[in-house]
Amino acid sequence: MQGMMMHRPLSIISILDYAAEAHPDAGITSVRTEGDIHRATYRETYARVGQLAHALRALGIEEGDRVATLAWNGYRHFELYYAISGIGAVCHTINPRLSAEQMIYIIGHAEDKVIFVDTTFLPIIEGLRDHLPKDLRVVVMTDHDHVPDTKLDVLVYEGLIDGQPTTYDWPELDENAAAGLCYTSGTTGNPKGALYSNRSTVLHALMVAAVMGGALGQGVNVLPVVPLFHVNAWGLPYAGPILGVNLIMPGPALDGPNLFKLMDKQEVYSAWGVPTVWMGLLAEIENQGRAPAGFGDVVIGGSAAPRPMIEKFEKLGVNVNHAWGMTEMSPIGTHGVTPPRVTELPFDEKIDVKAKQGRRVFGVDLKIVDEDGNRQPHDGKAMGELYVRGNAIISGYYKNEDASAKAFDAEGWFGTGDVASIDPDGYLTIQDRSKDLIKSGGEWISSIDLESAALANPGIANCAAIGVAHPKWDERPVLVAVAAGETKPSLDEIRHTMAPHFAKWQLPDDVIWVDELPLTATGKVSKLNLRKQLEGYNHP
Ligand code: ADP
Repeated sequence: MQGMMMHRPLSIISILDYAAEAHPDAGITSVRTEGDIHRATYRETYARVGQLAHALRALGIEEGDRVATLAWNGYRHFELYYAISGIGAVCHTINPRLSAEQMIYIIGHAEDKVIFVDTTFLPIIEGLRDHLPKDLRVVVMTDHDHVPDTKLDVLVYEGLIDGQPTTYDWPELDENAAAGLCYTSGTTGNPKGALYSNRSTVLHALMVAAVMGGALGQGVNVLPVVPLFHVNAWGLPYAGPILGVNLIMPGPALDGPNLFKLMDKQEVYSAWGVPTVWMGLLAEIENQGRAPAGFGDVVIGGSAAPRPMIEKFEKLGVNVNHAWGMTEMSPIGTHGVTPPRVTELPFDEKIDVKAKQGRRVFGVDLKIVDEDGNRQPHDGKAMGELYVRGNAIISGYYKNEDASAKAFDAEGWFGTGDVASIDPDGYLTIQDRSKDLIKSGGEWISSIDLESAALANPGIANCAAIGVAHPKWDERPVLVAVAAGETKPSLDEIRHTMAPHFAKWQLPDDVIWVDELPLTATGKVSKLNLRKQLEGYNHP
């Protein structure tokens, strides 16, 4: 028997339509590339989104067309998210840290019609111009007074929307209509596109709102350091307006001192980003001897949050939510929002729980399997490759049959490439990306665990554990580290710090000091580059 309920298509624009009415005082505060601070309520933003929708149509953008963005976190980028999907087109966010070759590839692969560019990134497009489609139009995201000198034939954002009507008769779209396109940074081969729909995006926004709703009430200030140019800033531009939080958009300056200043001034309660960003902020907190005013909550994801980082935040009274996800999952899969029985644990036990990657959010199913695809128990001990299933997870890669054919198992679950265990309470522990696990003498060592333990040595500011080929043991762990100060700890001292957590054979054989670690386009340590740098390494 069927239920007797209406079926209304889920649409992204309905989120802003709702926020404009229900949360008229909340909105967006942005650090602009023009150098000042800009504020707008969701109601004012909705009116500009209407104008932008008219401007996009005037540019000839039709349903299904791809419109690219190359921009920081700011209100105009947010407006593009809603206007593009609102008229039924697809917002293709481009990560400015991709290589020129990757950028040319994805703009061609996506067949973008128009690209919206922050002034800062205009030189990137100037550099690529000869390799981009001739009819790709470029819009600079500023007003006429701030357009930099350029040889490109450009349109100007504020000029396009100026004078357009502030309301738009939004079309009723199929809820499965594509709305967003984001390419994975592709450590090997070409980047692969995740093509989000209106339905998947709205459901993901509700999933994020459900898990964070307890912490983020109306009017709370939330800072996405995680970029709008990659994986929808973890869904915050959609979940935020549903909840009625104020979004604080940081613009280009994401170093510790600038983030501290912004957070302090805007009284940011919750801030979201990858561990490398928080290393910068924690260093500034140490310099200042205090946390930014009002700071009470941090979401850490994208790569493993090292235990010492979690401890530092918690000692400052900042609640840590450790989250895990992937571009292919919209991206949130698990979240470390903490129930009272964890918050009330003794400090060390609480950190044990918080160092895990949290529990699945509603709407995501997890399974771990052995090499033959057999399900492993969720007993906190068995390890296996992690597979996922849910309504905000890709069903294939955009125009890429080869990659799509390899991504799913026979039951249709998506293979994450991560090796994990899951405990009886549902807490996920990511042991490693399968390609980063270190295989020594037939046993596996988690590079994530080694890094977390090594960072407890105060002489180490950041580090990566890499498996280096070894004639006898297959691979041996080596630590590549950045020193925190002038005096570097010896290998023995580092091994001593790590010893309580490992068998002796699991400890690194060597430490190699570097000035900085190479990062990927998404701000994670690039182990691929490190492995290349270590080719020809001679064991001590
Ligand atoms: P990229 O940003 O490199 O394009 P993703 O953002 O999709 O790719 O990266 C997803 C991967 O990042 C996961 O498969 C996992 O290996 C890693 N990751 C994400 N969050 C965490 C976390 N909290 N702990 C450990 N690994 C994580």
